[in-house]
Amino acid sequence: MTDLKLFNSLTRELQPFEPIHPGEARVYTCGPTVYNYQHIGNMRAYIFADTLGRTLSHKGLKLSHVINITDVGHLTSDADAGDDKMEKAAAAQGKSAWDIARYYQEVFEADLDRLNVRKPAHPRATDYVESMIEWGKAMQDKHCYELGSGLYFDVSTVPEYGRLARAVTDDGEGRIDTVEGKRNAADFAIWRKTPPGETRQMEWDSPWGKGAPGWHLECSVMSAELLGHPFDIHTGGIDHREIHHPNEIAQNQAHNCSADSAATIWMHNNFLIDRRGKMSKSSGEFLVLQTLVDRGYHPLAYRMMCLQAHYRSELEFSWQGLDAALTRLKRMVLQLTTLRSREVELGSISVFQPDEDPAVIWTVRDVEDEEWGRLQAPLDKFQVALFDDLNTPIALTALEDVLGMKKVDPFKKARLTAVMDSVLGLGLFPIYREDLRIRPKTAEITEEEIEEALARRKAARAEKDFATSDAIRDELAAKGVEVMDGDPLGWEWKLAQS
Ligand code: AMP
Ligand code: ZN
Repeated sequence: MTDLKLFNSLTRELQPFEPIHPGEARVYTCGPTVYNYQHIGNMRAYIFADTLGRTLSHKGLKLSHVINITDVGHLTSDADAGDDKMEKAAAAQGKSAWDIARYYQEVFEADLDRLNVRKPAHPRATDYVESMIEWGKAMQDKHCYELGSGLYFDVSTVPEYGRLARAVTDDGEGRIDTVEGKRNAADFAIWRKTPPGETRQMEWDSPWGKGAPGWHLECSVMSAELLGHPFDIHTGGIDHREIHHPNEIAQNQAHNCSADSAATIWMHNNFLIDRRGKMSKSSGEFLVLQTLVDRGYHPLAYRMMCLQAHYRSELEFSWQGLDAALTRLKRMVLQLTTLRSREVELGSISVFQPDEDPAVIWTVRDVEDEEWGRLQAPLDKFQVALFDDLNTPIALTALEDVLGMKKVDPFKKARLTAVMDSVLGLGLFPIYREDLRIRPKTAEITEEEIEEALARRKAARAEKDFATSDAIRDELAAKGVEVMDGDPLGWEWKLAQS
């Protein structure tokens, strides 16, 4: 297999992936702050991290992947200003901060499932506060100073602060005058003291008084504890390249007494945008996965949409774009249906023996057989694309090449499809055509009623009674059903979106 090359934000260059521990890959992904629903932009970050993880597995590496759950410490500004996001949401909703965190974590995990993001470890920040305090104690003498509001990290005490962001001691917007007494604009909180006379729902005792950890600390502590130092890859959205990750690196350097940033490769996905710009929670207007489902889309149409763009490019969301992604998914599922109809048993993994690993299987058997050999070309294309910094747009076309191949044994096609899908994560095998029908939550008509009306229409057409046939079509249209005569994918109808 070719080398896997990944774009390292630290050097802004592609770099061959060389695991620190032979045969293993250890990946840390900054997880969500669970004070609200995750929007589909956030979910793009996890689809990207999952595709990376699946690619590493495809290379035969044993993957350890952590996505932390931020259930404490994140302020409404990344630069130590504003309110505590958890406490603010709790006050607004009349619930405890703990309940808020649990609820949104559950919704997040359900969304990951619906998008076929494989289940990584999901540790919660609140379970690591003691370790965070230990880190604070270890760093405080050489790297921190105390103010009335908390313990702050002095970014001038570590070499090359901000190398990742390419902006040294950033005096940029959002950092000016955020906290009185800071030595450098970029200094950040390690511990935030509860103001005198106040009680927070989430607070702990510490050498610096009652309070809560700063947000940046949790990722340094949790990555070290769960993956060891150094580890292989750290991922997050591109906004984290500017503040959060430089601060993590500074803490890692201070704690480990080394210039090393702790992860070998730092990777960042670009934003999902819409007409107004970056999709963000603070703007108040954002789309969640459930909105797409309520409008009738299968959640994996969104995964397809993400895979169609390279993770380092911006991706603009539009309903037309989602329609196109759904159509592409439908076409693939339709091609698989043809394979299924040839009585190949294609349950999700039954094309493999139970203990076979689809990720590594292809290269170890059958390639000498002439027919297998023909299938090797699209596999090569697939791997070359994927190993070139996860070029999923091209990898998808390799999968389509396989699905479109004529005169190849369906069983073999199915096996190769399963190999590719084990990396792309579209979950093609368990999906059936019917699952992909647009079905908005607001639909007033049931599928049985539609099928019954279509049967009547078919009968009328057979008798050349076009007046009745047209009347039935209009009747259906009035109920939001579009009849799709001659649809290239063979769909008879769809429900119009509200
Ligand atoms: P947060 O809960 O705000 O920390 O965000 C969770 C993850 O989503 C982080 O990795 C962010 O960088 C990422 N993210 C936030 N907004 C977007 C967006 N519009 N598109 C892609 N990723 C995003
Ligand atoms: Zn993080």
